[in-house]
Amino acid sequence: MQTNPVSDYFYNIYQTVRTILIGMRISLKYCFAKTVTLQYPDVAPALQPRYRGFHFFEIEKCIACDLCAKACPVDCIYIEKTGPRKIDKATNIAAGGKMTRFAIDYAKCMFCALCVDPCPTECIHMGNLHDLSGYDRESMIVEFTDLAKQGLQTPQPLWMQKDELPDWAQKRKDDWVEFVNSSDKLSNDNVRRREEMVKAVDPAV
Ligand code: SF4
Ligand code: SF4
Repeated sequence: MQTNPVSDYFYNIYQTVRTILIGMRISLKYCFAKTVTLQYPDVAPALQPRYRGFHFFEIEKCIACDLCAKACPVDCIYIEKTGPRKIDKATNIAAGGKMTRFAIDYAKCMFCALCVDPCPTECIHMGNLHDLSGYDRESMIVEFTDLAKQGLQTPQPLWMQKDELPDWAQKRKDDWVEFVNSSDKLSNDNVRRREEMVKAVDPAV
């Protein structure tokens, strides 16, 4: 087919101007739209109650049965123990062997929560922490047994380990330290809970 160079020239100009106007129309629409930028971490992210964040783990109730690890589709839960553990229903505390390792590799975890439902003692939960960073793949493995020795049920992001925090972050950190997400027979007895957490992991205790 024969083309006309003059009409092609003007057609190209027309197409160029038209596509620029289409792009600018979209840009202009967002210039006047309500802003959605969240000044994180100064402003708290709005997490829904059903949000599945990094786990919080109540090691004092764990019987090391491996059911969570078996349910995990990507095999990212690592459990080691010195012997069987049994829960005392009166106190909700497990005793017996020691938990020498309970770790989750968050480089693999899909936050699917399939590990939560099979747990017979309801000690593993999806938490409200959405933000955890590290400098290498190794630091993506969270050793919950090490956290338990420090009285923690969930990891803390590096930035939350600073002294000066926004109010919402300080409140969340305080909630973790005070175990406000653990509503069981040890509620309001944080000293005892910390003791039991150490007992669960320390062969010497
Ligand atoms: S949330 Fe899913 S992927 Fe992550 S540890 Fe649990 S079962 Fe495994
Ligand atoms: S977290 Fe629950 S399911 Fe997993 S080993 Fe402990 S008791 Fe068993």
